[in-house]
Amino acid sequence: MSRIVSSERVKFPKVNISRWSVLEGEKMVGIRFLGHAAFEIKGSKRILIDPFLTGNPKAAAKPEDFDKVDLILITHAHGDHLGDAVKIAKRAGAKIVAMYDISTYLVESNKGITTIGMNYGPTEIDGVKIVQVPAWHSSSDGKTNIGNPCGYIIEIDGVKIYHAGDTYVFKDMELFAELYGIDVALLPIGGHFTMGPKEAAKAVELLKPKYVIPMHYNTFPPIAQNPEEFKELVGDKTEVVILNPGETFEI
Ligand SMILES: [Zn+2]
Repeated sequence: MSRIVSSERVKFPKVNISRWSVLEGEKMVGIRFLGHAAFEIKGSKRILIDPFLTGNPKAAAKPEDFDKVDLILITHAHGDHLGDAVKIAKRAGAKIVAMYDISTYLVESNKGITTIGMNYGPTEIDGVKIVQVPAWHSSSDGKTNIGNPCGYIIEIDGVKIYHAGDTYVFKDMELFAELYGIDVALLPIGGHFTMGPKEAAKAVELLKPKYVIPMHYNTFPPIAQNPEEFKELVGDKTEVVILNPGETFEI
């Protein structure tokens, strides 16, 4: 009898302490959807991915909202991804991470920015592990090809986030799961320029993330989609988190 009481007394504080530490701000990573393929990742560093805000009818922020950003990751040179990267980099002191050729193009056409060029592979920048991975798409300023498209697997504060960029599904996504393990996948579902719901659901099967957040849909008429259809196709293997622009998912 006394044993049971004592073991319960030991158990209780343990549960509460772990809960308190979360409440008192145990490190969590916030993933804020800014509309289209744009995300803000907030942890020990502040990272933006594909900050297309000006001209984005779904934008949940303005370039002027960002005063301090550590890194801006660019998946390819199309305007709806490169977006306001240069403007924000200048005002917020962020380094732009991009495919080598895009990085060179940006530095040559803009004074006063710092870029880090990569070419598919892993690196570590300011304590954030970044793997630049392939994507099946194109990359240009609309006329001239600039570099190749990519996605990123980011590990920040122990959380692994995959931003696929613009891409069709491909079998090598299995490698990303094998090599890194994905906690949260950000996948395009709009179709026309990228995977649609069916292909993105297949990508979830290959990537096996804990959570998936759909993106790159409903910004413009050609990429109109119902995210609930995607959710249904994924089933219960992975939790589908549908974010409205401006909403944040915390992990
Ligand atoms: Zn594109």
